[in-house]
Amino acid sequence: MRHYITSGHLPQSLLFAGAAGSGKTRQAMDFFKSLNCIESPGSPCGRCAVCFKLRSGSHPDLVVFEPPVVGRQVDALREVLDGIRLRPFEARQRLVLIEPAEDLNKSSSNALLKALEEPPPATVFILISHNPALLLPTIVSRCQVLRFAPSAPAGEGAADLAEFRSAVREILAGGDPLALMAKVQPLDREELAGPLSVLDALLRDLWLLSCGAASLVAAELAGLDLRPDYYELDEIWQLLRGLRRGGENQNLKAAFAEIAIRLGRLRAA
Ligand SMILES: [Zn+2]
Repeated sequence: MRHYITSGHLPQSLLFAGAAGSGKTRQAMDFFKSLNCIESPGSPCGRCAVCFKLRSGSHPDLVVFEPPVVGRQVDALREVLDGIRLRPFEARQRLVLIEPAEDLNKSSSNALLKALEEPPPATVFILISHNPALLLPTIVSRCQVLRFAPSAPAGEGAADLAEFRSAVREILAGGDPLALMAKVQPLDREELAGPLSVLDALLRDLWLLSCGAASLVAAELAGLDLRPDYYELDEIWQLLRGLRRGGENQNLKAAFAEIAIRLGRLRAA
């Protein structure tokens, strides 16, 4: 586990996108604990100095910036960025949380962009946003985007979605990837939102697993013998991005087939 955390697979900027109240901030804090717990990285002990400091509300290497809406916002941000030029005080990885990122004005956004382009040592930036469409596109494109969906839809469609979700889990458990295609068959462009949200949530969990943060993902997933490779995950992310953006004549079946095959490769070799 330590290997994943220290091997540099960690992207240096993340965007947690999703509706208010979908657990993004909590997840970011847990992620910091998971990266830095002294006793058991990947599965925070709750007792060591890092876990303890966080529980009592502060750690020198967890930096939270809430963009002020009055005064010179960019000066406040610069002060924060100046404070993180050197290595972290105690932690393996410092975390800089910016929330809500859509409150950054233009000059702050540019200052942040510069920091994302030349990040300080051992530092992960997490931007939290309820409305990523308001962010500077150049900032978004530098971030690995983790989507936090609102709670699952109920009623009609929920059953289909549950079926799709279990078909995906089946692949991760060692089943035939192309069996997923039977569930995808009736999909058309208007019905993509549900399956995409299932895959978004899954990718987020797989990504946390690849960082060694097994304690943050659903037990049924953590129990599978998975060794998600960051680069493989990134390929799947690109496919999802393509599906979300896709034009009328995009071949949905081919895209889902490729996702299914790549998911099948995430099992431990
Ligand atoms: Zn700990």
